Amino acid sequence: MQTHHAKIAILGSGPAGYTAALYAARANLEPLVVSGHQPGGQLTITTEVENYPGFPKGVLGPELMELFKEQAERFGTRYVHGTVTRVELGKRPFRLVVDEHDEVICEALIVATGATAKLLGLPSEQELMGYGVSACATCDGFFFKNKEVAVVGGGDTAMEEATYLSGLCKSVTLVHRRDEFRASRTMVKRVVDNPKIKILYNSVIDEVKDPAEDRVTGVVVKDVKTGDKHTVPCAAMFVAIGHTPMTELFVGQLDLHPNGYLKTTPGSTRTSVPGVFASGDVQDFTYRQAVTAAGTGCMAALDAERWLGANEGH
Ligand code: NDP
Repeated sequence: MQTHHAKIAILGSGPAGYTAALYAARANLEPLVVSGHQPGGQLTITTEVENYPGFPKGVLGPELMELFKEQAERFGTRYVHGTVTRVELGKRPFRLVVDEHDEVICEALIVATGATAKLLGLPSEQELMGYGVSACATCDGFFFKNKEVAVVGGGDTAMEEATYLSGLCKSVTLVHRRDEFRASRTMVKRVVDNPKIKILYNSVIDEVKDPAEDRVTGVVVKDVKTGDKHTVPCAAMFVAIGHTPMTELFVGQLDLHPNGYLKTTPGSTRTSVPGVFASGDVQDFTYRQAVTAAGTGCMAALDAERWLGANEGH
């Protein structure tokens, strides 16, 4: 096993991780980034990003993340490629194991592992992922311009995605498992008042058709009250049922909120273990934006630098 030593290790390479790396590198701390299973994070699976400040004409998600990376590298960020499989935060220095082939020994740790979209768990959904099944309307909606599409979920994300898709697609069928939405009233009103959106309450997706054709041709919807099933023809299904923060590694070592996100002290990025900081979507279930992730990445690097200064005589 190869051992790497670092003053600051950063887990994750999305906007939060790279911004933390940029700040830590400019403070001469030679941060070490463990890039994770999806280097660049969620933005690498998006197309156009139009709401990242400084890019008035928009920028492609993967291109934006390359720029983040380049900027962090310019000041001496180091990398270990792979996924952390174990963390030992019980004593300092902390120890991280990467894919059982590398270990990282660090004084301070910034967790920026992000979150992933939840899926329904149907075999047909899995088979058609990327072939009409998507968890990101703003990424993939464009491919279904003037087509009929379905959206699953009843929270703000589902309302936002249904509304967004109604501007692009021929029609949107919104499928929700209850007779009441969880989403905020304003967003629900926008959906209910939209003539292009049809709502199916008390309904779940039983199957996505048709894996045999390698594309989505419809969804089989089951009424949870009557058990009746019918097929809604559509060219895409957008799953908008929430996100799961990547916190499994830290269960039992860091305090988590009941919804699984990492707990930080309000107004800072400090977690329950001194020397461990959290930034980006792994600790944010409210904003979940690239720019807020970058902002908290900066905060984490500054918090870590100050903590190292106070604790290690840096
Ligand atoms: P939520 O957890 O709020 O909502 C998830 C929705 O998906 C719920 O309606 C839930 O149903 C449904 N659901 C969950 N699991 C399943 C399943 N297995 N099958 C079918 N349906 C399922 O997630 P969101 O992503 O919508 O929102 C997350 C947070 O982000 C919220 O705090 C939200 O307010 C915020 N947000 C804010 C926005 C804004 O203000 N512009 C935009 C987007 C998100 P049920 O209700 O029955 O539990």
